[in-house]
Amino acid sequence: MTPTMIAPISKWVKELAFLRNSYAFIVAWPLICVALISAVWWSYGASIEQDKKLLHANALKDAASLSRAYAQYLNRTIEQLDQISMHVKYDWEHSSRSLRLGELRSQGLFTASQFALVAILDKRANPVTSTAPMEAWQDSTLKGLFFYHQFNNSSAMQIGLPVVVNSSGKPVVQFTRRLENADEEFDGIVVISVDPSYFSSFYDEQSIGKNGLLAVLSNEGVIGTSRVGNTVSHISTDVFAKELSIKTPLGTDYFPGQSIFVDQKSRFLGWQSLAAYKVTAVVGLSEQELLSTREDSWKHTKNSTIIATIFLILFGVIATWMSTRLAWRKYQAKEVRDTYRLATEGTNEGFYMMNALHDIHGNIIDFQVIDCNAQGALFFGLNREELVGMNMSSLQEDRYFKTMIVTYSKAMEIGFYEDEYEMSDASPMNIVWAKRRLVRSGSSLAVTIQDISAKKNAEKELHRLANRDGLTGLYNRHWLISYLPKAISRAKASDQMIALLFIDLDGFKNVNDTQGHVAGDHLLKSVASRLQSVLRPSDNVVRLGGDEFLVALEPVERETKPARVAERIAEAFKQPFWWEGLKHEIGASIGISLYPRDGEDTETLLKNADIAMYSVKAAGKGHYDFFKPEIYTKLKTRFEMEQALSHAIETDQFVLHYQPRVNATTGEMTSMEALLRWIHPDKGMIPPVEFIPIAESTGMILRLGDMVIEKACAQIADWKEAKLPLVPVSINVSAKQFNTGDLAQKLAACLQKYDIAADLLEVEITESAMMGEDNTIIAELSTIRLIGIKLLVDDFGTGYSSLSQLQRLDMDILKIDRVFTNELTSSKEGEIFFKAIVSMAHALNMTVVAEGVETKEQLIVLRRLCCDEIQGYFISRPLPAEQIPPLLNQSFLLPEPQ
Ligand code: C2E
Ligand code: CA
Ligand code: CA
Repeated sequence: MTPTMIAPISKWVKELAFLRNSYAFIVAWPLICVALISAVWWSYGASIEQDKKLLHANALKDAASLSRAYAQYLNRTIEQLDQISMHVKYDWEHSSRSLRLGELRSQGLFTASQFALVAILDKRANPVTSTAPMEAWQDSTLKGLFFYHQFNNSSAMQIGLPVVVNSSGKPVVQFTRRLENADEEFDGIVVISVDPSYFSSFYDEQSIGKNGLLAVLSNEGVIGTSRVGNTVSHISTDVFAKELSIKTPLGTDYFPGQSIFVDQKSRFLGWQSLAAYKVTAVVGLSEQELLSTREDSWKHTKNSTIIATIFLILFGVIATWMSTRLAWRKYQAKEVRDTYRLATEGTNEGFYMMNALHDIHGNIIDFQVIDCNAQGALFFGLNREELVGMNMSSLQEDRYFKTMIVTYSKAMEIGFYEDEYEMSDASPMNIVWAKRRLVRSGSSLAVTIQDISAKKNAEKELHRLANRDGLTGLYNRHWLISYLPKAISRAKASDQMIALLFIDLDGFKNVNDTQGHVAGDHLLKSVASRLQSVLRPSDNVVRLGGDEFLVALEPVERETKPARVAERIAEAFKQPFWWEGLKHEIGASIGISLYPRDGEDTETLLKNADIAMYSVKAAGKGHYDFFKPEIYTKLKTRFEMEQALSHAIETDQFVLHYQPRVNATTGEMTSMEALLRWIHPDKGMIPPVEFIPIAESTGMILRLGDMVIEKACAQIADWKEAKLPLVPVSINVSAKQFNTGDLAQKLAACLQKYDIAADLLEVEITESAMMGEDNTIIAELSTIRLIGIKLLVDDFGTGYSSLSQLQRLDMDILKIDRVFTNELTSSKEGEIFFKAIVSMAHALNMTVVAEGVETKEQLIVLRRLCCDEIQGYFISRPLPAEQIPPLLNQSFLLPEPQ
């Protein structure tokens, strides 16, 4: 066998494997059919046999009764002949042998057709008298009879065999009787020859049939005359093939045709011997004829049987075919099931094959497990053999079963169903989370159940991690972003408010910076638990990040509620926090926004809470406030300002204006203060009060500061170039510029760049900026002074600096704030205060400058108080650079000569 053939054959053999389990089921049908067909044919045969038996019995009975009747008929006929022969004998003996039979005949005796001849023979066998010529009748039969009578003195009539005697060939049967003389000696015989048909006129086609048989037998069994149908025969071999062996005087029997009858027709014979004569009457009924009467009925039965057989064969073929197909389908379904089970065996998936059970209305009322895998059974705490065959209703509690049957029925209807669900406590399955897939397959339902508890737990944990702050365990921003939209739609639906409390810790940064992150983390944890302690468990606390927290309240009916909560929180923060024996005062600034008033979406609400918090912080911290649109506008303006300022720095929209400072007595110009001006392309000139604070808070002051140094030096270089009599230019420096630690270096670099002497630059620093313990500022200041740049204390009197501090810092010039200049002419105290400062500054070897001198009166007082220099509108307003050269050329700047 070639390998190519093996494959299809082995496949074929494998395919046939389905027969193994169901061959009995399949083979049963042809077997049943064969059995049924046999039974039908047997019953057919039996009924015919039965019929035939009955027919035989009846035929024998009929033959018996007919033979009886025939025997009576024969008896009567022979009796008649007996009497006639007696008569003739009597008449002959008493007529002294003178009786003439011919005369009797002419008188009308013996004229019946059956009498062929009546004659008397004398003792020498010579005919004496006869009804017809005698010669033709001399035959051996008669001779035999003659001799019998001659030597036998019985007076009984003898009957001979049929014999053809006369020349016409007509057969006759001869009856003879002994005649005696007065001495009772033999004296001849009487002969009566009768046509044999005379004995068979009994024949009646109605009762005996067309092939019926009549026969007369001698007592020795020799067949005499016989008749079959209408044919009368005197020669026995015409009818009988051999002799009949009849032993009893009366009886019936069946004789097969082939051996007995010449016409080969089987017959039922009945026979009866006559009591008075040595003759037996035989009647035969043709079997064939009898059978033919039943043949139609048998044919009909046979046809019915054939039809039944055909039907059974067809039924057998169809049933076999259908059962084979059913077995094949079952096998295939089982194959699929087995394959599926095998595939799912060893996985953690439970697999079940279930059959739907219906009520009488066709509604599904239950499911029966018809197959499952080991894991599937294990889910129920059973093994496979135990589970298979069980109904779901017996496996589950009622209420769980009710929900289950709905789902399963739906799957049967639609064909497919899939979901993930958490098992109820009522479920008998030892799974928490399950993924189930239901697929209809024919009239069954394939159910796969997967234990996804671990996955769900991991998901839950992930979800928790994603939504919780790692440090405090509070919700995180991620959670808030997904929570708020839902809360908003809830509030919208119930027409209520949501409050967001944005909390920023005051002073936390300080702890973190000074005590380290461990302390900071500990503090944040304490803050979280303190927050929770003043809130209800249903209030959501979120850590937004860093030291920012948020409390979401939902639902809120009135504003008073968030206000109360904020108060509680602020109150809670009044208590200090402790960490390793150290006390930390941490406050909370709380900004509140409300849905829907302060915003209708997450982003706006959060932003506005933040803004509200910011304004609380700006207003002095440690408290709470609701969001107000004005704050927002303010912040927005400020933000826009920041943007514009940044842009202005990039595109250099700045110029320096210069304001002279003069000797109070002579009016001689001693210096010029450089003051920054922002020339906005749309808004025109913007004064420094509007942008310096912003520049300070955003850090942009550093770039601005550098720009001022650069511009001032460039300007001095220009004037120097123009050969103008130069005076120093003083520039204003912010505290932040000192903090960077490279100011002195920058100044020196710039001086060098423009080749300017250090004494042409002066630096003004506000009193408040130089105060404090910071050593960087002190170091920076002394470096600047070492370069040769003079140091001025700006806005003196507004801060809290002490003169001893000024001394230590080694400042050159003291500019007394213009608030005090204003006071000079309005109150006595102002003068006293001013005088005290002047004398102290002089004691410290500092030059004193009065700012903001606007009137001649002020100048007069200042001169009296020995103030060294003055600056102010009385002398000159700050002027653009191009207006400065004339002033430089002018030695004295006092408005009117003194
Ligand atoms: P300041 O340093 O005290 O500057 C003097 C301010 O007084 C200037 O205002 C000047 O125009 C004004 N002023 C002068 N004489 C009179 C007067 O007789 N009456 C009145 N009412 N005011 C007078 P300005 O230019 O608006 O400057 C305001 C502040 O801006 C300055 O105060 C200074 O602190 C700051 N500033 C100006 N330019 C710069 C700068 O380049 N750098 C830094 N860091 N700050 C600057
Ligand atoms: Ca100044
Ligand atoms: Ca000033």
